[in-house]
Amino acid sequence: MSEGRSMDDARRRGYLDALGVTIWERRAPLAAVADQIEIAPVAPEPISPPLPSPPEPVQTKLERLPLPSREGAGGRGAERLPPIEIEPDPMPFDRFDESGCSPALLDAWDAIAHLPPASDRPGNAIERMDWETLEATVTGCRACGLCATRTRTVFGVGRRDADLMIIGEAPGADEDREGEPFVGRAGQLLTRMLAAIGFSREQVYIANVLKCRPPGNRDPHADEVLHCEGYLLRQVALVQPRVILAAGRIAAQQLLKTDVTVGRLRGRWFSFGPSAIPLRVTYHPAYLLRSPDQKAKAWEDLTRIRRRLDGADA
Ligand code: URA
Repeated sequence: MSEGRSMDDARRRGYLDALGVTIWERRAPLAAVADQIEIAPVAPEPISPPLPSPPEPVQTKLERLPLPSREGAGGRGAERLPPIEIEPDPMPFDRFDESGCSPALLDAWDAIAHLPPASDRPGNAIERMDWETLEATVTGCRACGLCATRTRTVFGVGRRDADLMIIGEAPGADEDREGEPFVGRAGQLLTRMLAAIGFSREQVYIANVLKCRPPGNRDPHADEVLHCEGYLLRQVALVQPRVILAAGRIAAQQLLKTDVTVGRLRGRWFSFGPSAIPLRVTYHPAYLLRSPDQKAKAWEDLTRIRRRLDGADA
């Protein structure tokens, strides 16, 4: 949806309705006919004020996976738009102040940063796995303590060559029971949010940082993330999405390796992985269920993603 092509009111109302955002309507004078009711313009939420641009585009520390060949991926590569220039990220992660980060997370980062390149690691099988082997490996994974408490592993769902990949935190109780991500109440809101920008669940790929449910839905521990990370990175490398949506704090912070809040991470593009996939952060649907007043911001995030996929947002 380009800025030049403004969305008609009926479509916008439909989208906002799907998200549960209240539309305020200006009353027509009493004498006016009923069909002259106008929708009050929805002012775009201001994105966080622009910060001074750093000299270089910022890369995350996890940009190391080899990309699979597009051959055999259903020919979608031919339909792709040429690579889009990503605006330099105003967040200077290379000079990021780590003093607020937990020692466990810093250790985990160090472990990742000091791994030799994949080609030098004979044992690094995950980075070479195809979908079937990867899924079977996740199903049988016993790398961390979560294997003792899970009911089922939750691998991921959707198109394996999707343009849009959504990454959440970890399975909850519903997902643990059904073996599919985002099927509970938060998942149902996510489904409506995706529908609002024209995607069914089947058209996107949905995965989580963790493949097993942490007991009581507690935050993932650093060692759990570390053990699971290779699976997610391989999923990203296999899907090769054109855009990634990080849903919520855990996904955003783990993918970008930061402890900056979602409120500060949203509203800008990041570049993720060796192929610099545009990544955007938004609030987790579970948070939106608790804080519906934030839905307008999530709507803004989603429209930016839609526009990016339409080639109209850099
Ligand atoms: N929350 C998530 O982050 N992922 C799920 O799969 C379900 C709830």
